[in-house]
Amino acid sequence: MAKFIFVTGGVVSSLGKGITSASIGCLLESRGLKVTLQKFDPYINVDPGTMNPYQHGEVFVTDDGAETDLDLGHYERFTSAVLTRDNNITTGQIYNSVISKERKGEYLGKTIQVIPHITNEIKERIHKVARDKEVDVAIIEIGGTVGDIESLPFLEAIRQFKKDVGKENVIYVHVTLVPHISTAGELKTKPTQHSVAQLRGIGIQPDILICRSQRPLTKDVRNKLALFCNVEEEGVIQNLDAQSVYELPLMLKEDGLDIIIMKLLNLRYGKQNISSWEKAVQKIVNPSKTVNIGIVGKYVELLDAYKSIIEAFVHAGSANDARVKLCWIEADSVIKCGAKASLCEVDGILVPGGFGGRGIEGKIEAIRYARENKMPFFGICLGMQCAVIEFARNVAGLKDANSTEFDEKTTHKVITLLDSQRNVTDKGGTMRLGAWDCKLARDTKSFEAYGKELISERHRHRYEFNNEYRQAFKTKGLKLAGTTMDGGLVEIVELPSHPWFVGVQFHPEFKSRPLSPHPLFANFVKAALAGKEKQPPVKKKVK
Ligand code: GLN
Repeated sequence: MAKFIFVTGGVVSSLGKGITSASIGCLLESRGLKVTLQKFDPYINVDPGTMNPYQHGEVFVTDDGAETDLDLGHYERFTSAVLTRDNNITTGQIYNSVISKERKGEYLGKTIQVIPHITNEIKERIHKVARDKEVDVAIIEIGGTVGDIESLPFLEAIRQFKKDVGKENVIYVHVTLVPHISTAGELKTKPTQHSVAQLRGIGIQPDILICRSQRPLTKDVRNKLALFCNVEEEGVIQNLDAQSVYELPLMLKEDGLDIIIMKLLNLRYGKQNISSWEKAVQKIVNPSKTVNIGIVGKYVELLDAYKSIIEAFVHAGSANDARVKLCWIEADSVIKCGAKASLCEVDGILVPGGFGGRGIEGKIEAIRYARENKMPFFGICLGMQCAVIEFARNVAGLKDANSTEFDEKTTHKVITLLDSQRNVTDKGGTMRLGAWDCKLARDTKSFEAYGKELISERHRHRYEFNNEYRQAFKTKGLKLAGTTMDGGLVEIVELPSHPWFVGVQFHPEFKSRPLSPHPLFANFVKAALAGKEKQPPVKKKVK
């Protein structure tokens, strides 16, 4: 039978509960245990797929095509767990399922209530994920902060869960803030005391406190937290700011987190094997070179919208002994200020995925600049579609080429709606989603990067390369470097005459890990470094 770790958050949001949960997973795996991680999000949307990135950040896509919270990205990057739609559950999904059971008459005669019907449904989702994934430990993160009205049914369900499965099989971890008040020169424990009091008020006594703090916790502070919050002193763990998020498992290990977890859960564990993680972290924090990559996107002020891309560059940097400095360039400003002024300081350009017409012309202009100046270019999803439009307009001479997403009436519809999307009217969960196989052509940058012919990558789109233009574009020098297995959809385009120009219809960023950087990101960074080395040194002005 699996053991369960429930992770809640207190005091304020943005304490890095997701990364903390992921770090617990990483540490338990280093002890030879099999884990899975599940996130409960207390909002009514069925999934974040329909939400604006301003509200929610990136939508992370799993192999099975679920559109999920970005914390699942952390879970996959920190562990070897393969996550599916069962790993991210929202209030919307719970109610959806209870209401449809009610309509089918499954509760015949009963009044349907939050307790027990909603809480039972929540508990069943927890059992299901642990059962189906056959794990030793399931780590369950409750979104939001203790005190939120929305998360109450989840907290009630996890309270009951301990009674159901036995106290030796469950622990509660509370992630909290211990602020440093500079005028008093002290770390303050009161917010944590209040937050734990609130948790105890709903019947949950935390076993471990993970305390975000800018200063190391003193012995006194640890004693005080243990006494007032009723936890063992060794259950008070500090979580200090780190240079890289990947250091967190190692920092938590230093403070004994894995030992106390295994002790409390009575888990048998093997000798710790964490050296490959340590090596990866060393490579991330101590690179010898730097390279500047420009990201031309719509949401420059919203880094959470590009979480997995940012992380993929951390991994790709470590693969090249380089720190990748990301320069965020607002697509519209490329038009306003000109491509050269906006892009002259970067060594490579990435255009990420996106939806809607805003910023499209700026992205296309940035791609023209990359193509003409032989600057490494990487286009992802919408970025690949923009590369096709740019090629059509400026190389193939089809002046009004466009995607029907932005202009339905244009003569040259080089990007069009996928056939499978023609009759789709619902918005949620209806795109071409999840992992699809792709066959690579030899003699391409993609084949060189992956080192194999058959790959599988995750997708999230409605539009595709219009096959009517295949022949014409091939003749003009565009290489169709990857297609679906039946050859029906173009998945990768490249320019063989360019040092590194690759556009992919899928999202490689979702599969990059610190221990296995994504080959396309790694080779893109390598090409940017090579281009940088070739450039003549900037001449100093003589006074
Ligand atoms: N909007 C484009 C499409 O739906 C691209 C999507 C994306 O970049 N994820 O095909």
